[in-house]
Amino acid sequence: MKLYNTLTRKKENLAPIKKNQIGFYSCGPTVYNYAHIGNLRTYVFSDILQRALEYNRYKVKRVMNITDVGHLTSDADTGEDKVEKEAKKERKTVWQVAKFYEKSFLNDLKDLNIIKPSKVIRATETVEDQIELIKELIKKKYAYETDNAVYFDVSKFKKYGKLSGQNLDDKLTAARDEVIQDKEKKNGADFALWFKLTGHHKDHAMHWLSPWGEGFPGWHIECSAIASKSLGQPFDIHTGGIDLIGTHHENEIAQSEAAYGKPLANIWMHGEFLNMHKGKMAKSSGSFITMKDIKEKGFDALAYRYLLLTAHYRTKIEFSWESLKASQNAYHNLISEISRKRPVKTGKNTTSYQKKFKQYIDDDLDIPKALALLWDAAKNKDLSQSNVDDLVKEFDEIFGLDLIKQSKKLSKEESSIPQNIAKLAKERWELRQNREFDKADKIRLTLANKGYEIEDQDADFVIKKLIK
Ligand code: AMP
Ligand code: ZN
Repeated sequence: MKLYNTLTRKKENLAPIKKNQIGFYSCGPTVYNYAHIGNLRTYVFSDILQRALEYNRYKVKRVMNITDVGHLTSDADTGEDKVEKEAKKERKTVWQVAKFYEKSFLNDLKDLNIIKPSKVIRATETVEDQIELIKELIKKKYAYETDNAVYFDVSKFKKYGKLSGQNLDDKLTAARDEVIQDKEKKNGADFALWFKLTGHHKDHAMHWLSPWGEGFPGWHIECSAIASKSLGQPFDIHTGGIDLIGTHHENEIAQSEAAYGKPLANIWMHGEFLNMHKGKMAKSSGSFITMKDIKEKGFDALAYRYLLLTAHYRTKIEFSWESLKASQNAYHNLISEISRKRPVKTGKNTTSYQKKFKQYIDDDLDIPKALALLWDAAKNKDLSQSNVDDLVKEFDEIFGLDLIKQSKKLSKEESSIPQNIAKLAKERWELRQNREFDKADKIRLTLANKGYEIEDQDADFVIKKLIK
């Protein structure tokens, strides 16, 4: 299986550390607002990866964190903690806010058929491990304490910038040229490992006792601590959205490698963004679309998943309601295509389909090609019903589109088409055979008004309930 590694900038053969097993870490959400559909694209990408690994018979141990403390409104370690800020706005406790949005996020995962990671761990549950890691970094002189915080000294970690390809010297120079807001830092790119309860963090509700007094951990340290504790170091694959490359993941690498002198993860994979044509979709801007919006407009959650599968995870998607409508139609058409009765009784050998499918999946998750292959199989008149059923079942292990369940539901619905509708449709078909198209079209219109659509095939027709 080949996967694109951001670290080496090429597709690499997956070589698991432990035979037949994969240790896999995904950066989770910051729970101060609803997840938007851009965030969820990143989780669908990680889900597809997990499913593809399992399809290849690996036993996957996947861990994801929940950021419920320490993520500030600015990546430069200034600003307020996002959860604390939201709690003030909503007049709730930080714990209530974090719990509420975590629950909502886990529901989104369910709606989108995303397999829940084997372990979901909150940052606030692992503060002791984070403190231990910071102590190790101070001991090894990679970190220093100031009046307000403990910082990681990036100038001590010579490989800083290797993930994003930024040169440390350039980064240090650039940072020096800027007005360094926080005069306490030795280098502009230094980042906080621990915040003390001083300045605007004086009343930070979530705080713990540490060797540096009462305070709370920075955002990056949680992932380093959680990942190495639950998966060991190094582990196989680490994922997140592309915005995490330059700061969060660079910092995770610096902390973990400085502390333990070995890589954190072997393969780093990043999902591209989904944006609106107006620009970025960001939680902090307040203008974004959630799964609730999608469902309220009458779309299936899985139609959104289908939309995501039509693009490779390393290409941008520009979201529009029109494209979601087109995806919903395509998704429903695929379901009706696979549930159509097939005249061929004896099955064919389908190994060429299976071989191609695996080839696409193993080529850095080429899901759009794999999806096109399923369409090809569904339309192939030489395949029998059981051929198609078997392929759908196998391929949907990765697509996660509930295709078998949905097609059974559709067949049931079709068998429940009322007699008067079936009679009208038959009349129309006969009119068409006699080339009386005007009359046939009138019946099509009547049927459409009653909520049914006729799809003509070479020698037959199918009645479908119209999508509302
Ligand atoms: P957050 O909850 O802000 O920490 O982000 C959760 C995940 O969503 C991270 O992996 C981000 O990289 C990812 N992400 C943020 N915005 C987008 C977007 N517009 N499209 C795709 N992924 C995104
Ligand atoms: Zn992370």
